[in-house]
Amino acid sequence: MNILPRLNYLFQMLPCYLPVSFFKTTNQSITKFIWDNKKPRIKFSTLLKPESKGGLALPSLQLYYWSAQIRNMLTWITNRQDSMWIQIEAQSCGSLSLSSIIFINNFGEVGNIAKTFVTYSTLLAWRDCKKYLGISSQICSHSPIVCNPDLPKALSDANFNLWHTLGIRTVSDLFHQKTTTLKSFQELCSEFNVPRSNFFKYLQIRHVISSFTSKRRFRAQLNEVETLLATAQSIKGKISYIYRLLSEKGGSSFTPMKIIWEKDLCLTISDELWAEVCDRVYCSATNVKMKESNYNFFYKFYYTPMRLHRMKTDISPNCKRCTSERGTYMHAFWSCREIARFWQSIHTAAQEILDVQFDMTPCIYLLNAQQDFVLDPD
Ligand SMILES: [Zn+2]
Repeated sequence: MNILPRLNYLFQMLPCYLPVSFFKTTNQSITKFIWDNKKPRIKFSTLLKPESKGGLALPSLQLYYWSAQIRNMLTWITNRQDSMWIQIEAQSCGSLSLSSIIFINNFGEVGNIAKTFVTYSTLLAWRDCKKYLGISSQICSHSPIVCNPDLPKALSDANFNLWHTLGIRTVSDLFHQKTTTLKSFQELCSEFNVPRSNFFKYLQIRHVISSFTSKRRFRAQLNEVETLLATAQSIKGKISYIYRLLSEKGGSSFTPMKIIWEKDLCLTISDELWAEVCDRVYCSATNVKMKESNYNFFYKFYYTPMRLHRMKTDISPNCKRCTSERGTYMHAFWSCREIARFWQSIHTAAQEILDVQFDMTPCIYLLNAQQDFVLDPD
């Protein structure tokens, strides 16, 4: 059980870039181990999801690796004085700071970064992570203005270096706080003491921003992980916190099982109700075997006659109990006339015990869920 901490130690300590393909290969090995070299019955991506989203909370090595890299980047922002390596890494960025490199897409063109193994590895991992999070390659509000290879070279002359010294460092410094309205030249002069003779430079940068905006190459909003990096929030348990952010943000929130159950039950299940259903798979019983049985049923783990027929055509697709209808999952567990008697007796007993009348629906009995169904506490 201590495999994950051992791997996490390596992720945090070794400054190596691990590409996405490395984790694909690792996940394939894990899948083979879990399913004992047989065909997987549940998708690996589903197993990785938290229990509240219908997964089994299997740790994702890739997300832990990225979390360790983002934690390293947080030290760039906070600029801890006791971290001597930060000074060494900062030297590779030329005139830019380590904190601003995070918001540059073509970071390989900055200073000696491409030759600095440690910093470059972290940034390459961050580039993969941004792709996973769906962060576009647009210029963002926290991109630096001077010496930024994503912006025209004209913005790196001596006058803009002076602006940098005066405090206009990122694109967001040119905008009114939390708006997309550019500050006027007068406002920049009074706020940052920009010399009046720099009006042409202001027109130049305004033109760059407006052309980037019209070509949709500029975005004002930051992703939640970017915000964490931009604000350098003080958080406890950084890796766990970042891991949670990454697992919540990346990919689709819910599994395709929600869509499959909706189709079977012919109803729309709200995201809130689905989260409750996923939770109840584990909470409705303390017995481990019962939990496993719940999970297997929930994930349609069982082979129905229809499924077996698709694998081998000489197996009858009909239900084994009534032998007259197709043996689908819903038929086998709910609508078969042979099993309907069982559910009817359960329903009668449930109404008697709870002393409340309610409809007998597959949503209640199969998924343990019903919208707007509240028992009278008295
Ligand atoms: Zn039947």
